[in-house]
This record gives sequence, structure tokens and C-alpha cells, in this order.
Amino acid sequence: MGKIIKILLLALNSLFLPLFAQGEPMIDAPGINEELMSKNQDVEILAPEYGQRFELGEDIVLSWRNQNAQKSYTYAPYFYYVIGDFQMSASFRNTDDMSYTIRPFQKSVIVLQLYYWDIDKYMTEERDEYMYASDILVLGIGMDVPEYWLKRFDKNRTENPTPPQSITIEEPIIPAIIVEQPSTPPKPPKPAPKPKPKEDVLGQDVKPFRFPFSKPVGVSQWHGYTAFQKPHKGIDFSVARENTLAVGDGLVVGRGYDTYYGKCQSGGNFLTIKHDNGMHTVYFHLEKSYVDVGKRVKKGEVVAKTGNSGSWNCQPLAHHLHFETRKGRSQTTHVNPVDYIEQDWNLIPTANYKKYPGRLTGDNPHPGR
Ligand SMILES: [Zn+2]
Repeated sequence: MGKIIKILLLALNSLFLPLFAQGEPMIDAPGINEELMSKNQDVEILAPEYGQRFELGEDIVLSWRNQNAQKSYTYAPYFYYVIGDFQMSASFRNTDDMSYTIRPFQKSVIVLQLYYWDIDKYMTEERDEYMYASDILVLGIGMDVPEYWLKRFDKNRTENPTPPQSITIEEPIIPAIIVEQPSTPPKPPKPAPKPKPKEDVLGQDVKPFRFPFSKPVGVSQWHGYTAFQKPHKGIDFSVARENTLAVGDGLVVGRGYDTYYGKCQSGGNFLTIKHDNGMHTVYFHLEKSYVDVGKRVKKGEVVAKTGNSGSWNCQPLAHHLHFETRKGRSQTTHVNPVDYIEQDWNLIPTANYKKYPGRLTGDNPHPGR
């Protein structure tokens, strides 16, 4: 008899969950991109079927076709365990391969999308403009897909379903399964990095900001196109109830509780500072802020305590600080904090990357010490 455990809709180790904040589009599974689906419909998934159930240990053969004879693409299936222990998986494949085999390791629900790129753009800086995504598949592994997830990405749904508070499943008793992946071509190198933008901000060769903590702390998600969010607009620092600092002199221009999408989809307590160089920094998921709107702050001053406020599908996000640097006030002006913070980033480790290799994605990911 399996012990009954309560499994939150997303996993416990969910430091990297999506942030919901002012103006940010709603994302319901990390890294799943519904907007990209309409950009290009050349590629169609042939199997399996939406909502299909597989038994644990059974192979899932994902297959697809390119309906546009004029175009060649390179493909990467991405899938996420949205019930069960959270994990992201992806694989890069050749254009010759029009199928991919997945063997899930746990009783779960998977959300899957096939990403593809124009093959002649993939190695260039324009790659992101030529990135597309297939329709979304939801699959049950050793269980039927619960109603919420079955409806959530259904193409024919008429309204968004209401998320349940949590879901109870029987703990699976399964040995670890080594998934044998077919040989894959090496991941192509990233396009050459763009020149650092720091000069056009200050006109000098010094990064304007300091590190937002008084000591090095780990990162659970880097800025940029990560395995979990596309893009992730800040850096997630893996901390709990830690004092966080103003990264430069400035004025507090925003403080509150983000309710843009309601309390079930919220970035929680946030603080926004407008710096004297015109840039903004924003701190999310705070436990509390120590400074009010209108107050001037000095570089290095303690401004807030990190926390676990905010939620995703009515579930807490787990303790971390989501920290953004922006060229202006709007969220669309986000830039990579690494380019603006004076810090030996090699000393900043990627937290728990062995268990979650997807964390080594995004802009300048590195394992660290
Ligand atoms: Zn974040």
C-alpha cells in the first residue's frame, strides 16, 4: 500500500517557478509558450494524442511532421512534470529525426511542446526571432490527466479552468529508471555575445551596481531564455529571509503587493527603486520592505527581507528573490543583471544544478564553485 502524500500542483523544489507581476503574460507551465504557437504552424505533432494516458515504464514516442516543403527546421522537444517531482527535460535533434522517445520516471502529468527554429538561423544571433513552438500536449503517466490540466491547454476550450488548490496522488513506488537517450548532436554554440550595454548607460567602463546581498548566494534561475521561462526577466537568488540591499543610489518609486492577476497569480510583495542613472531595479516575493515610496536609498543600504510571498496557481513559489534590472520602469526593458552588477560572477554558484541541470541555461550560466 502506497503511503498517501500530498503533492502540490508544482513541485517542492520550485525556486524557479514563473513570476507573475505587473504586465507579465500568464504562463501556466514553466517554459510553455502559448504565444509562439500562432507564429508558425508548419510543424504538426502526429502522436501521441492530447490527454493520452501512458503507464509508468511505457515509452512515449513523440512524432511530428513539417508540412512546409520549402523550409527546414531543427527541433527540440521540451516537457515538464507539472504533477509529481518537478523536472524539465529537453533534447536537441537533427532535422532528419522526426520523432523522439521519452520514458518518464515518475507517476505524473507532463506538459510538452515541440520547439523549432529555421535551421539556417539557428546558429546566428537572430535565432530567437526564428523560434516557433507546436501545439501543447498534456499527457498522464500512470494516472489520468486531472480535469484542470486536461482543460488548460485544450485547443477547443472556451474558458480558462479554475485551478484546484492541490491534488492528492498515491506516492509511486518505482525504482529509478535510467532513461537511455539516443545519441544527440552536440548543442550548437551560442551566438557571439552582444557588446556589453554598460557603456551606453554611464558612458564609462564600470558596472554601475553592486551585488544585492552582503555575501555571495546561489542562483536558481539566470536571466534570459532558460529551460523554464522564455524569457526569464531577472535572476532568481536562492535565499530565504535574507536582507537584500539597494544595488545603487536611488529613489524608492514602488512598493506594494502585486495583484495584477489576482492573489492566485501574483509576484507578491515587491519594491521598485529608480536609480540615479535612470535604470530601475525591482525585488519580488519579499517578506517585507524596510523603505517607503519617496525615500532615497544609498548603495548597500538594507531595503528589504526576501521571502516567499506571491503565488502560482494559488501555491507559494518557494523562498527566493526574483531580482530585475530594467533600463526604464517597464518590465519590457529588463536587461541581464550580470551586465550591470560589479561582481565576480564565477563565484556565484548555480544552486542544486546537478539535480536540476535545466538551471544551467539562460544568460551566462555556470556551475560555480
Ligand atoms: Zn524569477
